[in-house]
Amino acid sequence: MGKIAFEQNQHPKQKPDQSKLGFGKHFTDHMFIMDYTDGKGWHDARIVPYAPIALEPSSMVFHYGQAVFEGLKAYKTSDNEILLFRPDKNMERLNKSNDRLSIPAIDEEFMIEAIKELVRVDADWIPVEEGTSLYIRPFIIATEPFLGVHASHNYMFIVILSPVGAYYAEGIQPVKINVESHYVRAVRGGMGSAKTAGNYAASLRAQVEAQESGYSQVLWLDGIEKKYIEEVGSMNVFFKVNGEVLTPELNGSILDGVTRNSIIALLKSWNVPVVERRVSIEELFEAHANGTLEEAFGTGTAAVISPIGELNWDDKNIVINEGNIGELSQRLYDTVTGIQRGTLADTLGWTV
Ligand code: PMP
Repeated sequence: MGKIAFEQNQHPKQKPDQSKLGFGKHFTDHMFIMDYTDGKGWHDARIVPYAPIALEPSSMVFHYGQAVFEGLKAYKTSDNEILLFRPDKNMERLNKSNDRLSIPAIDEEFMIEAIKELVRVDADWIPVEEGTSLYIRPFIIATEPFLGVHASHNYMFIVILSPVGAYYAEGIQPVKINVESHYVRAVRGGMGSAKTAGNYAASLRAQVEAQESGYSQVLWLDGIEKKYIEEVGSMNVFFKVNGEVLTPELNGSILDGVTRNSIIALLKSWNVPVVERRVSIEELFEAHANGTLEEAFGTGTAAVISPIGELNWDDKNIVINEGNIGELSQRLYDTVTGIQRGTLADTLGWTV
């Protein structure tokens, strides 16, 4: 793969107002690209001006969805240091997604260096206001111009950067969730544990219907019995029941979240009991009925912790912790964001 070529953007854009960033709307001046050609491997790594890319309409990604992606963030500390949170985990997961979609593996260490280089080039774009960060979106698409169904022979790996605002403009807000009992996101043996475009396409219909009924996200049940909890929206999910933290085990249809992994490690380091196992929706409603469902929250790179204030399952509705953020949820949020931003000691060696 060798060195990364660099072409400076001669027409840098005006940077957006840091108080109105939103999520994923603004893009920096540069992007990383490298190509894959059968027989040649990954080649021509380069950082170039952010611009449209030209693809043949017959490119396989448009027809058969061979596409994978990642999402992570860079933060600027008060000493102007730039921190990435566990980028090795994202590159490891990208290769797992590649494997599931028959996309050639990438060199994880090289890609961490490439991401660091791109972030350094556009370092002035990292916002510094409270709660803001630079979102990093690596993705791979199949570019072979061919309409037969097979694994593409050519790919492009692109990394783009987007300055993003605070997920919670006015502090953490517990959300209302609808338990989805008709549509499913993934099944074991399918692609649920890969971060691939099709999983998100599959999720949209339920998301639209939930929003039309006044819920912000859906809670996905397993695709076979529609009995066991899987994920919430595009987050992993945790429940505190009778002092013990429960989260669905990685069963092949759930994404192995970097935040999930970090939360489990933190809880263990605090000696808080945490169990990865099958958790049924019935069990949670029973726990609520007997007063032992103490907290519920989603975890992911975007929000870090997203408390669940209300769950609706068919015609049954429950309010968790009186609709407030729980004590443990708040402690986890403060700890993870503190480590990410360099205001708390990185005792587990997560930031780069
Ligand atoms: N599940 C799904 C389906 C997701 O898209 C995400 C976001 N990547 C997560 C869980 C959370 O993963 P992470 O903590 O790595 O952001």
